[in-house]
Amino acid sequence: MSDFILKIEGGQVHDPLNGIDGQVMDLWIADGKIIPPITDPGFRPSQIVDGSGLIVMPGGIDMHCHIAGPKVNTARKMRPEEKRKSAPVHRTEFTHSGTMGSVPSTFATGYKYVGLGYTTAFDAAIPPLSARHAHEEFADTPCLNKGFYVLMGNNHYVMKSIRESEPEKLKSFLGWMLNATKAFAPKIVNPGGVEVWKNLPSGNVSGLDEKVNLYDVTPRQIIRGLAQAANELQLPHPVHIHCNQLGMPGNWETTLETMKALEGHRGHLTHIQFHSYGGGDGDENTFNSKVTHLADYINEHDNLTVDVGQVMFGETTSMTGDGPLGYFLANLYGTKWFSADTEMESGCGIAPIRYRNKSLVHTLQWAIGLEWYLLVTDPWKVVMSTDHPNGGSFLAYPQIIRLLMDRTYRQDVLRTVHPEVRQRSLLGELNREYTLNEICIITRSGPAKILGLKNKGHLGVGADADLTIYTPNENKETMFELPRMVIAGGEILVDQGDIRKSPVGKTLHVSPNYDVSIEKEIGEWFEQFYSIQFRNYPVSDEYLPNGECVTM
Ligand SMILES: [Zn+2]
Repeated sequence: MSDFILKIEGGQVHDPLNGIDGQVMDLWIADGKIIPPITDPGFRPSQIVDGSGLIVMPGGIDMHCHIAGPKVNTARKMRPEEKRKSAPVHRTEFTHSGTMGSVPSTFATGYKYVGLGYTTAFDAAIPPLSARHAHEEFADTPCLNKGFYVLMGNNHYVMKSIRESEPEKLKSFLGWMLNATKAFAPKIVNPGGVEVWKNLPSGNVSGLDEKVNLYDVTPRQIIRGLAQAANELQLPHPVHIHCNQLGMPGNWETTLETMKALEGHRGHLTHIQFHSYGGGDGDENTFNSKVTHLADYINEHDNLTVDVGQVMFGETTSMTGDGPLGYFLANLYGTKWFSADTEMESGCGIAPIRYRNKSLVHTLQWAIGLEWYLLVTDPWKVVMSTDHPNGGSFLAYPQIIRLLMDRTYRQDVLRTVHPEVRQRSLLGELNREYTLNEICIITRSGPAKILGLKNKGHLGVGADADLTIYTPNENKETMFELPRMVIAGGEILVDQGDIRKSPVGKTLHVSPNYDVSIEKEIGEWFEQFYSIQFRNYPVSDEYLPNGECVTM
């Protein structure tokens, strides 16, 4: 054990994974880990943080955001008007300068997350071909532990092996891909739909059983095939799903079918708010919430978890691996638009968006997100997210916490938005208020469990010493937006809002075993179709200066 021992003395600790709900206790830290209490009365720790009257939680974990890779980088370049309007982050003795707007620069992203008490974040959509770029950006995103999910739901080899009924090859390919890209989990985005869009003007798939042209497979087969492969590989976070038909009125039935298509395999459905809509035929007057139907299904099935993708009012940037969605949004709002076709693998769409509290559709989206938090009975099954920056910035998390913990505030805000939302959503009738322990679950302990991060999301002996200390306040937004102190890897990174240190943070990835004999076949297929050579594809270790392999 190192000589430096840090003691957090007398804080009110929230650690739901270890059954601790606000008990006053001491925490001891050495070598970046929580250690057993030192009981020798003569022992003097190297540093003592007085936690009396303060609230201590594990560091926050954002399990779905967009903070690295080509999509994020393109969005930065695409929104100079936002950069001009927003105050920059100034350089200090400990930090670089950075730019803000809805898509902050790499350095600013790290500083702002950790300043909010978040110590781990996962980018949710990296094309395999751009894995190296994402890792390079991670190296410039300080203070955070991070990782990414790699796009697999429109990959040609995936569809080929499903069409040829070769689940073992699919499993080996998935194992190889996760190793080659040093990703944390497989991601499915609009399975099959992006491939159709890349081949047909305005193309997409309308439901789980529509055939993907060229490959003769259905979205249902892609979801089932990848979920089975990911579960058999015993990944800590098996499969992360962005359902088909995102944002479309009436899409709730597709979402329910996706839940059923998993056939009991573990799966996480992301930004579920965007997939819970009733109505149809492009008629705004029929748009409504179907959260109760879907939340009931989640409440009854333990293989499923969700994050919300909360919409918050204001200006942001929509960025997605769902190419046809980007096209749809740009047409709807008449904005500038970026689209990309990543050969053999995926697509991308980016468009600015402004959520208005006087728009019936936007207000309903806001209400539907809040319904999700309030209608999933078990907080371990629902995770806080804005799908940063799609529904809003991660900087809105403290406001969401206040909306969940303070019913009076929620009702006050509800009175200021489009009045018809009260007829089309249950929100006005929901009286539930989250407790501090439940907030701790949906912002850190729950995501750690869903991601299979055994050393994070709790403060038991052996846990990574990532923790956030808050000053209690009646106004929970005030309490959560400016933590008193943030510690990551046992080091005090933030003190009274000032960054004191900015280490690079770890990159979390998986390295499942797979049948390596598959590589010969993948290589031959690869050389026929890709624009780069097979041997140049895998990301080498030097791109992860501080990598950590996570196992089940
Ligand atoms: Zn997303």
